[in-house]
Amino acid sequence: MKRHAFSTAAFSGALLAAAAFASPAMAQEEDEQFITIGTGGQTGVYYVVGQSVCRLVNRGSDGHNIRCNAPSTGGSVANINGIKSGELDMGVVQSDVQYQAYNGEGTFDGEGFDDLRAIFRIHGEPLTLLARQDSGIETLDDLEGKRVNIGNPGSGQRNTMEVVMDAKGWDEDTFSMVSELGAAEQAAALSDNNIDAMVYVVGHPNGSIQEATTTVDSRLIPMNDEDIQGIVDEYPYYSSSVIPGGLYKNNPDDVETFGVAATFVTSADLDDDVVYETVKAVFDDFDRFKQLHPAFENLDAQDMVTQGLSAPLHDGAKRYYVEQGWIEE
Ligand code: GLU
Repeated sequence: MKRHAFSTAAFSGALLAAAAFASPAMAQEEDEQFITIGTGGQTGVYYVVGQSVCRLVNRGSDGHNIRCNAPSTGGSVANINGIKSGELDMGVVQSDVQYQAYNGEGTFDGEGFDDLRAIFRIHGEPLTLLARQDSGIETLDDLEGKRVNIGNPGSGQRNTMEVVMDAKGWDEDTFSMVSELGAAEQAAALSDNNIDAMVYVVGHPNGSIQEATTTVDSRLIPMNDEDIQGIVDEYPYYSSSVIPGGLYKNNPDDVETFGVAATFVTSADLDDDVVYETVKAVFDDFDRFKQLHPAFENLDAQDMVTQGLSAPLHDGAKRYYVEQGWIEE
């Protein structure tokens, strides 16, 4: 009896000791929050956005216990779907895709994502059409009968290219061949002569267009005809835009096109404190953020939180912006 009592006590003592020993580490693990940001192909700018946000967030992990990672993904539409399913916490998406997802239009016809929340806008993204010099393509209409990469399903460029094709009355039979390569694969396909042209909705300069223009003679094609003007007039989230000359080899002149903005979004479900700490990490160290990619160089913090967003701001982001006096409560 006595012995039994002794063993029980010893046993529970050991348990208590084990619990006391284990609890600080376990508590820390439980408090730690992992967030995943959806980006795009590795040679685009979204990937750098995600890596840059995470770098700034992770510098402060000892204080807020948030750890951030930003894998490569299929792009805007894939990021919206990932946030909706809970696979991603935040993501970078084109402003047209944000609008369509929130309002249930276009690709998201009839399925508005009511819980979609905006965090901030980032750089501008012109629709970028690049063709091999030897393809004979000089205008948008010259794409007819050519081999064109219209983008992987899930990418923003595929979504926007479908708007262009609708406006032109084109379908896949318009081209001699259609491919659906991901953003990071298209430059090699262009230089290997597997395609005549590629489209990319992307900030400039970027690694993909740089890779293509340095490995094959290729030129940026204007997208400014009356059908494109019709798109810009019809939809509030498209505007005329210019890719500056001189950014890429053999492309010395400005090229007129149209475009959108990259935006950073999440779901209303994501904890307010997590979003607050994320935007705080970016804007408290904003000069450093702007140095992480040339496409971020001219960003203005207040413009980023007040322009180009169609979903409501997330409450955690709003709290920081009100504190900064950038928006009214
Ligand atoms: N705009 C592209 C997309 O939505 C991605 C561009 C980038 O990765 O910089 O898929």
